[in-house]
Amino acid sequence: TWEKCLLFIKERIPAQSFSTWFEPIVPLKLDSSVLTIQVPSQFFYEWLEENYVHLLKQAIKSQIGEQGRLEYSVVVDRGDEKVQPTTVNVSGSSHSQHKSRVNGFDAYKNPDFYQELKSNSNLNPSYRFENFIEGDCNRLARSAGFAVAQKPGITSFNPLMFYGGVGLGKTHLVQAIGNEIISTDSSKKIIYVASEKFTNQFIDALKNNNLQDFINYYKEVDLLILDDVQFLREKEKTQEIFFHIFNHLHQGGKQIIMTSDCAPKDLKGLQERLVSRFKWGLTADLQAPDFETRMAIIQTKMHADGISIPDEVVEYIAYTVDTNIRELEGVVISLIAHASLTKREMDLELAKQILKNIVTDIDSEVGIDYIQKTVSDYFKVSQDDLKAKTRKKEIVIARQVAMYFSKDYTNHSLKSIGYHFGGRDHSTVIHAVQSVNDMIDTNSKFRFAIDELKKKLKIRTAVA
Ligand code: ADP
Ligand code: MG
Repeated sequence: TWEKCLLFIKERIPAQSFSTWFEPIVPLKLDSSVLTIQVPSQFFYEWLEENYVHLLKQAIKSQIGEQGRLEYSVVVDRGDEKVQPTTVNVSGSSHSQHKSRVNGFDAYKNPDFYQELKSNSNLNPSYRFENFIEGDCNRLARSAGFAVAQKPGITSFNPLMFYGGVGLGKTHLVQAIGNEIISTDSSKKIIYVASEKFTNQFIDALKNNNLQDFINYYKEVDLLILDDVQFLREKEKTQEIFFHIFNHLHQGGKQIIMTSDCAPKDLKGLQERLVSRFKWGLTADLQAPDFETRMAIIQTKMHADGISIPDEVVEYIAYTVDTNIRELEGVVISLIAHASLTKREMDLELAKQILKNIVTDIDSEVGIDYIQKTVSDYFKVSQDDLKAKTRKKEIVIARQVAMYFSKDYTNHSLKSIGYHFGGRDHSTVIHAVQSVNDMIDTNSKFRFAIDELKKKLKIRTAVA
């Protein structure tokens, strides 16, 4: 009977959801018209009830008839000792029953895990609004962030999502919000977590059988900051859990803040239902700093270190380093180091000398040339072919992949990328990026190749 129910369900939901939520179920017995199924955890049970109860009822009805009923047996996990089965719950139960089960969780909490998570918010206290320099490039994002910091969960900016390239201040800004809220109300429970860490915690929780602690912990926060959500791409189960937590927090009027390296609509590999929720609140982008902002950042950072440098030097740096704020900071730190080591006055000539090394360095390490070499190596074609006119299929693919990475990993404009690929125009680059994204979506071997290449390019980036 259960087999038939499964078939019924399988036809009606995505394969991924089916294998996650239905394959692990073990049918236990069928007594008159009551079917008992065993589910691996309380969370699992809750999830089924929240998301699939309707479907389950239909399935039961179709197999057993109107009088058919479903009972759950939940494998309860207390530390490493497994007691099974303990609770039996009836499908279609009333809400009050549901509540009492939720409260029942407390008994099973694993104190160590909980304590570890609870002990801090992961906020870096040095990221504040006071030292976040405002400019045209970040004004909207900053004021939205500031508004949320005054009234978390209350404004219509929920969720609040910041997106933009690397080094543009996303992490600084979201942490500034957290720090601001804590400084006005220290009882607020705030958690900042990078998506990568969130994913690892989730995987650990699965391994160690304390998924429920993990979920409960995140469900209890007043403000959840999830940094770099693009990292959740293709991670279906982590996305399911986050979706679950997101809904819970949002319904409870709790604030959610996220960042991403691209606009929500470009978040390929994230479930549509998740992306559409991201758009419920406010989305604001952080752009590359304009000249004035770069000037202000250099001056402020130098000033903070008690260093004074001539205006023409500040201007020179602001002209030369136009990519992102992290890089700008790096340059400023180098200049400060040089100035204090050599005890020489920081003049234009010294600045030029220092910058020449740093800036060309950065260019040669992660530039288009390096990407072309790595990609042509990987696909076993020659680098010259990438720039040539040939339309041979394997060369076209390698060329498109190299363009794709050039767009992602360098700060070259589309036009400039086209130029480096034998003088092609920017629409060719756009097309290449689209084709690669399409292939990533549809071809798992290709996706694997892209991941491999990412690793190769990343190692180099980290060294640089
Ligand atoms: P992202 O998360 O977008 O990659 P970060 O928030 O890590 O960028 O910022 C990179 C560095 O630049 C950090 O050290 C941060 O403090 C600094 N920074 C970014 N934006 C600003 C700003 N508007 N004012 C001052 N410092 C900034
Ligand atoms: Mg960041």
